[in-house]
Amino acid sequence: MNYSQRFTSAQPKRSHRAPDLSRLRQHMCNELVRRGITQKNVLYAMSTVPRHLFVQDALRSQAYEDAPLPIGYGQTISQPYTVARMSELLEVEKGMRVLEIGTGSGYQTAILAQMGCHIISIERLQELFRKTQTLLHQLGFRGIHLQRGDGTLGCPQAAPFDRIIVTAGGPKIPEPLLDQLDPENGILLMPVGSKQRIQEFIKIRKVHGVTRQEACGSTTFVNLIGSYGWRFP
Ligand code: SAM
Repeated sequence: MNYSQRFTSAQPKRSHRAPDLSRLRQHMCNELVRRGITQKNVLYAMSTVPRHLFVQDALRSQAYEDAPLPIGYGQTISQPYTVARMSELLEVEKGMRVLEIGTGSGYQTAILAQMGCHIISIERLQELFRKTQTLLHQLGFRGIHLQRGDGTLGCPQAAPFDRIIVTAGGPKIPEPLLDQLDPENGILLMPVGSKQRIQEFIKIRKVHGVTRQEACGSTTFVNLIGSYGWRFP
């Protein structure tokens, strides 16, 4: 299905769509469908958010390949399949309040905003925080609030959250994040692994105060550095 054509009217402001990049984005979405991504709101977001604007200028031609890319400061933008898969596993609905840890390039943030979520996203590195804040503002995304700090502490003053997504890998789920998840119908997703850069997606679901945990496949993320993460980069 050609999602790019179906949803062109919902493009974010100033998307700078070049025809060849649009075609590549459409091809990326077709590949996501082929690999099993089925949720319409995820495919809609992936087909309309211009990933090439979230990568370094020199890498724009590679933006729609299914690969992570460097974004500077030793960090990466996650590969499109990983972003789509995490967005599906999170089971988001329009209007949900989402806490994201690890803003990075802001691409995953933009995908969730395009799906209608209200997001607080926390980034540890000042330079990335500033750069991404400027970009998301320029692109005109709404419902996003960026913060700089140690995301393993969460954002207690804005809790509880319907959804919490951690886009860096840590040794265990940070306690403060568990505490800040909505007890009635909350989902938290995070790459967890006892070794650095080798993790498994862990999905925590809280329903009426009861917590269940599910493993959702292996993955590789940069390290979550902080009080409840790895102590050193
Ligand atoms: N989702 C991002 C994207 O779409 O570009 C990719 C995130 S990148 C894989 C992981 C990010 O987590 C990095 O920008 C890193 O600086 C950040 N990070 C690591 N530990 C953190 C912490 N304790 N709090 C907030 N951000 C953290």
